[in-house]
Amino acid sequence: MADLTHLSPETVAVVAGRPARAIGAPVSPGIELTSTYVDSDVMVTGNIPYGRDRNATWVDLEATVGALEGAPTGAVAYASGMAAGAAVHSLMPRGTRLVMGVTSYNAMVAVAKDRAARGEIDLTLVDVADTEAVLGALPHADWLLLETLTNPLLDVADLPALCAAARTAGVMVAVDGTFTTPLLQNPLAVGADLVLHSATKYLAGHSDLLLGIVVTRDPNLLTRLRRHRTLAGGIPGAFEAWLTLRGLRTLPVRFERQQRTAGILGERLARHPAVSRVRYPGLASDPGHDVATRTLRGYGAMLSVELRDGPQADAFVRRTRLWVPATSFGGVESLLERRRRIPSEPDSVPESLVRLSVGLEDADDLWRDLEQALDG
Ligand SMILES: *Cc1c(COP(=O)(O)O)cnc(C)c1O
Repeated sequence: MADLTHLSPETVAVVAGRPARAIGAPVSPGIELTSTYVDSDVMVTGNIPYGRDRNATWVDLEATVGALEGAPTGAVAYASGMAAGAAVHSLMPRGTRLVMGVTSYNAMVAVAKDRAARGEIDLTLVDVADTEAVLGALPHADWLLLETLTNPLLDVADLPALCAAARTAGVMVAVDGTFTTPLLQNPLAVGADLVLHSATKYLAGHSDLLLGIVVTRDPNLLTRLRRHRTLAGGIPGAFEAWLTLRGLRTLPVRFERQQRTAGILGERLARHPAVSRVRYPGLASDPGHDVATRTLRGYGAMLSVELRDGPQADAFVRRTRLWVPATSFGGVESLLERRRRIPSEPDSVPESLVRLSVGLEDADDLWRDLEQALDG
């Protein structure tokens, strides 16, 4: 594919990762379903082609996500977001001092805590929206792993400032961009070493598969990531890779619509008497609004609400009819969940907080469902 760097993400999402243009060639990529490949001259290449090392469908997907993140040849796809996380951890040797967001994705925190409990790494959890707190931790760190929009509090980290400070301190930065997607922010462009995505969420976008991806501009890290994938075996299925690429084609339009609806619902929820607080950086009153406006190209499509009558939160979730009570997010269907029902969720998350993943349904239909559930 020709150089895509001058194109906007809306275009890249559509044109990247397609077969070369030739008369009679397919317009859309196929699915390469094979475990092995006919030998090339093994003695010459020293490389025995096998389905754990490579797959043409991964390559199409990786070219597209890589182009969206500004590293066209730097993406590596994995079986899930957590397999991608394991690959990032494989880059952190024994003794690594890791600073991580306290409200990061709970399984990502669990991995870091388990490693710390085994004495492999030294872990410090910080509030990444508190820039001073992160800057204070960096002199004693080797790696910083964070989400720009935190889950489920939707605080906003000032990523450009943190990356600049990390660079000065010689700290490696990995950003989990699952909430922001490549559309709101490109962490590599502001100095992060790696960006990882749970493509399970917005990138694939239809709640029908799991897949993860890591992107880097550093050829040395890229080689190590690919080697870890081959040896640990956390490879994506070709069908999942193909579905993710198919989903990516519509990511910009889906996400634009989801963000617009999230903004509408955020304002209406903030005025509802049963709601004590709405967390959404798109609201002018939100503590993260200014940082988000300065550093992101939008405010995302996740919001969290806290109820005045805390114990009503579970009943509110149960009373919805369109919104589906389920974990996860980023699909075409709207989901909601009370996060503290999950035992590992930290105390910083209020008991009554309900996280909403805004889908593609009509905004008024979604609002009426929330309103009847709130009015009880
Ligand atoms: C879902 C998620 C993950 C894990 O991804 P899976 O695809 O479920 O393995 C990691 N980070 C964030 C922010 C997520 O939302």
